Amino acid sequence: MSLLPGLRYLPGVTTLKLDQNTCTGCGVCVEVCPHAVFEVSDRKAVIKDLDACMECGACSRNCPAKAVTVTAGVGCAQAIFNAMLTGGPPDCGCGSDQGSACCS
Ligand code: SF4
Ligand code: SF4
Repeated sequence: MSLLPGLRYLPGVTTLKLDQNTCTGCGVCVEVCPHAVFEVSDRKAVIKDLDACMECGACSRNCPAKAVTVTAGVGCAQAIFNAMLTGGPPDCGCGSDQGSACCS
């Protein structure tokens, strides 16, 4: 489930790529993606909502098979939205549970 449903980035511009031949179906990308871009079907990851990707890079960094690539940090609009909503520093929710933000 997306952290902020309804908020989306520009359509058709994300650099996200998935190599299903390399994917092992572990599901890590589903767990770490803050925007519910992936699902696992028949033991392979599937991009179910490409334009929801904010290029935070969490999936690429955490995929153990290196099956996901994305050029991260070039347009994390989610972080900007969050900063506007909270008055805090940019944070799209893709950082560690220690509170560090990968996009700031
Ligand atoms: S994290 Fe990588 S290997 Fe695991 S399901 Fe996602 S794409 Fe496949
Ligand atoms: S880059 Fe971030 S928002 Fe895009 S699919 Fe990966 S984890 Fe999800």
